[in-house]
Amino acid sequence: MINALRKKPVEIEEAPASAVEPRPEEAGKRWAIEARGLRKSFKAGQMMVDVLKGIDLLIEPGEIVLVMGPSGSGKSTLLAAVSGLMKPDQGSVVALDTNIWKMSRQKIDKFRLANCGFIFQGFNLFPALTASQQVQIVLKFMKIKPAARKAAAEATLRDVGLGHRLGNRPDRMSGGEKQRVAIARALAKKPKLIFADEPTSALDGENGNIVMTLLRKCAKEQGATVLCVTHDARLAAFADRIITIEDGLITSTNADPASFAHHH
Ligand code: ADP
Ligand code: MG
Repeated sequence: MINALRKKPVEIEEAPASAVEPRPEEAGKRWAIEARGLRKSFKAGQMMVDVLKGIDLLIEPGEIVLVMGPSGSGKSTLLAAVSGLMKPDQGSVVALDTNIWKMSRQKIDKFRLANCGFIFQGFNLFPALTASQQVQIVLKFMKIKPAARKAAAEATLRDVGLGHRLGNRPDRMSGGEKQRVAIARALAKKPKLIFADEPTSALDGENGNIVMTLLRKCAKEQGATVLCVTHDARLAAFADRIITIEDGLITSTNADPASFAHHH
């Protein structure tokens, strides 16, 4: 790892406050992510729709966890609440010992910049920038010097197999290559937490496998904690643990991948 990329430890704002007594099997464990009692409702016309109905989500450091459930079950809302993108109506999220929804918007943004990498379905690349520049932008936000960020960006692009694409813009790349640029952009800063929302749904099976293999490698080699939400049962094989969600409630925290693939 390049020295300029080493991060100062996150300031601990306050002791993690868990409203709920730990269950026996949870006692003494340290969690990378400890979300408790998450609730979120949206207005739909005159009605309020309850999208998260009281969700607890506990993820160990270095785990790669898949949250699976049908479309509309609340996966994206859950990921947004856990990752500091959207405040839940109720509940707490302690990520890396930081109680994020107790912090100011500005501090949450700083926390995300320092610690979190995001991968979304739509790649979200800038049309005018080369692969190298797309990855460098994030490192620029982190105030890493030009030479160091170019080196780090290009090393990460090589890691995801895009060493031959450094100078290419998105219109010259396939969907699989674009998603690998997006992954390099998320991984270049060596985030401790990686959040992925349907990262393979725009990809064919082979490219989907490449993407999931890269996320798995990041968890196992760099100790990153990966939370991936998807409705695609093919991703089950890449997870340490599968959590299922239906209609805003967790229905299993340790679903058997094989049975999941058969029943859904
Ligand atoms: P999933 O990712 O599992 O498909 P979502 O979390 O995106 O589910 O959405 C769950 C439900 O919440 C859906 O019915 C969706 O229409 C609704 N929803 C999500 N975001 C909003 C929003 N910003 N405003 C209103 N309704 C929303
Ligand atoms: Mg979604």
